[in-house]
Amino acid sequence: MLNYFREIYYGIVTVAISMWMTLCHLFTPAVTLQYPTVKWNLPDRARARLFNKIEDCIGCGQCARVCPTDCIIIETEKRGKDEPEIFASDGTPIKLRTYVFDIDMTKCCYCALCTFPCPTYCLVMTKEYEYSVYDKKDHIYHFAVDEPRLVKAAPQHGAPKA
Ligand code: SF4
Ligand code: SF4
Repeated sequence: MLNYFREIYYGIVTVAISMWMTLCHLFTPAVTLQYPTVKWNLPDRARARLFNKIEDCIGCGQCARVCPTDCIIIETEKRGKDEPEIFASDGTPIKLRTYVFDIDMTKCCYCALCTFPCPTYCLVMTKEYEYSVYDKKDHIYHFAVDEPRLVKAAPQHGAPKA
């Protein structure tokens, strides 16, 4: 009998405490966001999707060499002596033609190590994080726009040897 009334007592106290907690939070501002209508402002150094401003890329391959997951594939060839000189926007001469510059974001671990050695600062981490796709192949980004002039041997993966 005593247990019966003790259980009733605990039940009432528990409900009262719960209602009190609810009442306390009734007038506090909400912290949840109505995503995707509302989004967090990510910090400037947030790491999400990689981007290469390919017109500034000199094809040096330093990014590919440092990548711990080998997700950057670069193929280059020397520009011909008969071709006009071109420069990156910081004035660095571009002596290689980068005809393959692929990043497989499915392998990327977002360490950003590839961005630090880039001499022309063209490879950057962006804050873009909404890039879901239905096909994994769509996570391989092809940045190169040039075509090779020389006859290609078998494709080589990883950092360029040139
Ligand atoms: S962020 Fe890291 S894993 Fe991703 S491409 Fe750059 S070096 Fe490779
Ligand atoms: S380190 Fe920069 S310039 Fe060199 S290949 Fe990579 S993206 Fe291009």
